[in-house]
Amino acid sequence: MKFNTKLIHAGIHPDPGTGAVMTPIFQTSTYAQDGPGNHKGFEYARTQNPTRQVLEENLAALENGYGAVCFSSGLAAMDAVIKLFKSGDEVLATHDLYGGSYRQLVRVFSSFGVQSRFVPMQDVNSFENQIRPETKLIWIETPTNPLLQLVDIAAVCAIAKKKGILVCVDNTFASPYLQNPIDLGADIVLHSATKYLGGHSDVIHGALIAKTKELYEGLKFIQNASGAVPGPMDCFLILRGIKTLHVRVQRACDNARQIADFLKNHPQVSRVLYPGFEEHPGHFFAKNQMKDFGAMISFDVHSGSFEQSKQVLSKTKLFTCAESLGGVESLIGHPASMTHASIPREDRIKSGLTDSLIRLSIGIEDVEDLIEDLRQALEIQ
Ligand SMILES: *Cc1c(COP(=O)(O)O)cnc(C)c1O
Repeated sequence: MKFNTKLIHAGIHPDPGTGAVMTPIFQTSTYAQDGPGNHKGFEYARTQNPTRQVLEENLAALENGYGAVCFSSGLAAMDAVIKLFKSGDEVLATHDLYGGSYRQLVRVFSSFGVQSRFVPMQDVNSFENQIRPETKLIWIETPTNPLLQLVDIAAVCAIAKKKGILVCVDNTFASPYLQNPIDLGADIVLHSATKYLGGHSDVIHGALIAKTKELYEGLKFIQNASGAVPGPMDCFLILRGIKTLHVRVQRACDNARQIADFLKNHPQVSRVLYPGFEEHPGHFFAKNQMKDFGAMISFDVHSGSFEQSKQVLSKTKLFTCAESLGGVESLIGHPASMTHASIPREDRIKSGLTDSLIRLSIGIEDVEDLIEDLRQALEIQ
């Protein structure tokens, strides 16, 4: 089956009891047994739920993994991955990580003895020197948020394999339509399904896809033992979102290309971060490992001031000022005062996250309307 067909059909069959074409929402906590231990494969809904099971089979097929395990959020999925490790083990992670992932590693797991270090992964050779004997997991995010830096997944996985270290790739920004890390050597793929997989900004959900049976069983054990499972209605919404993933993400990428060009030529804009530009430092890797360049764009206004970018954010009418990304509607955000406000200003600026940086999540509206909205918001009064 090719990818777009898998979105609609992988793991999905009409309900055997009724013929319902769409996967039913099994809103139940428990299942009748004919006698003790004599059941149909379902005992208790933390352990097994048929709606969730269909979604997990579908996701495993989309990322070419052995199996998938779903969670109540992207961060609950990450929590399960780190629980595969023990006190004394170390996580080596991309340095400009999603803020919530950074917080979980630093403020939750370090108290349990799993330490993390955050290093740039753009230069693979200097990255290799950062690996220590206690390094047991490499955590990659690519493209990163909000600086849209690229990591060469295959090169990092080759180094990890040589040293017997597991690699988990947070594939949220790309979605399985654009990038499949297991094909490039990764062991685990994480999705905040809240974003592109759900695609309609109406649900919080997370998923892990494991390359091997052993890893799948380890994660499945933690899913049941720790219990951060999603409800069946949430699984249904993700299943419904996935059916149009290819159409939505491709349209958003097409829109993003035109908006990036518009911004690049705008006199008020000093810098546009978009992996589709040839001069973007990660362009080569993006071209190699992604089907298109994604629908996230970050840019700076010329003045470099907090004030001017805040004005832009308050003037857009179609772009909604909000956190999150990956929905059908376009969003605009100001990382320095919103998603990344907790990072000290000095560290933030050193990493390239300026006071004036604006982040766009491009949706699937008519691109002419989106460009017009940005044009009027960028006008100086
Ligand atoms: C949103 C996000 C997460 C966290 O997912 P939740 O569903 O909000 O818990 C993790 N990684 C990335 C890249 C994200 O954008």
